[in-house]
Amino acid sequence: MSARLLDGTAVGQAIRASVKPEVEAFTREAGRPPGIALVLVGNDGGSELYVGSKLKSAGESGIRADLERLPATASVDDLLRLVDRLNRSEVHDAILVQSPLPKEMGPDAERRVFDAIDPDKDVDGFHPTNVGRLVQGRSALVACTPSGIIEMLDRSGIEISGKRAVVIGRSDIVGKPMALLLLNRHATVTICHSRTKDLPSVAREADILVAALGRPVFVTKDFVKPGATVIDVGTTPVSDRALIESLFPVGHKRRAAFEKRGSLVLGDVHPEVEEVAGALTPVPGGVGPLTIAMLLKNTVTAARERLAKGRR
Ligand code: NAP
Repeated sequence: MSARLLDGTAVGQAIRASVKPEVEAFTREAGRPPGIALVLVGNDGGSELYVGSKLKSAGESGIRADLERLPATASVDDLLRLVDRLNRSEVHDAILVQSPLPKEMGPDAERRVFDAIDPDKDVDGFHPTNVGRLVQGRSALVACTPSGIIEMLDRSGIEISGKRAVVIGRSDIVGKPMALLLLNRHATVTICHSRTKDLPSVAREADILVAALGRPVFVTKDFVKPGATVIDVGTTPVSDRALIESLFPVGHKRRAAFEKRGSLVLGDVHPEVEEVAGALTPVPGGVGPLTIAMLLKNTVTAARERLAKGRR
């Protein structure tokens, strides 16, 4: 058996296509487009790339997107002042502070900054108010990656209600909100982490298995019940030639990509899982494209909610 590959690029495009008329309708009604402010501190190469593609995608959808930059030497107070200004901005419905923040800002910087964002503009769904709403099943703004995964399951005709779901990973941005979203959709959910005993046998109970560990090719065939849906969230850049050669034979397109670039982004799921899973998200082209699409969708949701509250 070979798993059906769930095409995140196509689902991401479908989400964006559904966002565009909503942006147009909002713009007509409010007399301005929905707006997002993207905050980038320092010069981290990965963050520059992510923020660049978020700006581009927002612009293509008709959303106003403004980049606010601070130097790597900025203090947490500088950043909090910027967030305060954006909280009060009439033209910004959404605020995204790109993580990671520079280490020099200290270990609690992200928490302080995310807590300071107006929950109505918290497009990443990280604020405790939005997390609380998610726990109570009455959320509007939910973390983009897990909510994108739910969209993908829905749009791929994969039933969630009544299914056994196992989420490997308990981070605040992926694992926990993923588990809550699945629970709110009436799955029976187990959350696993680094202290879980006999992880493969727990994972094998899953009809829907979400791997969000950040450990390349960790989830092998023995973690997967035949026919299960496997969602691979992991994205780890790997330059270990021996590992790549063991995974992809000469002539494989991923091997060719490695030869060209000297590194490859690997998921948490081993390629052999394709032989047992019923459906599987590839890396790249699976979960990744959903995240930005959901950011656009959340921006419009935030704009609509603010408009409904009379804040143009
Ligand atoms: P994270 O904060 O590092 O959390 C990783 C989680 O995995 C932790 O809960 C950890 O358990 C668990 N874990 C680590 N090793 C384990 C093991 N051997 N067995 C069982 N559990 C283990 O990572 P994250 O931010 O959630 O991201 C996870 C992955 O998703 C990363 O590769 C990240 O790059 C990727 N990601 C992709 C997208 C996308 O758009 N495609 C978006 C977000 C994240 P403990 O809690 O016990 O330490």
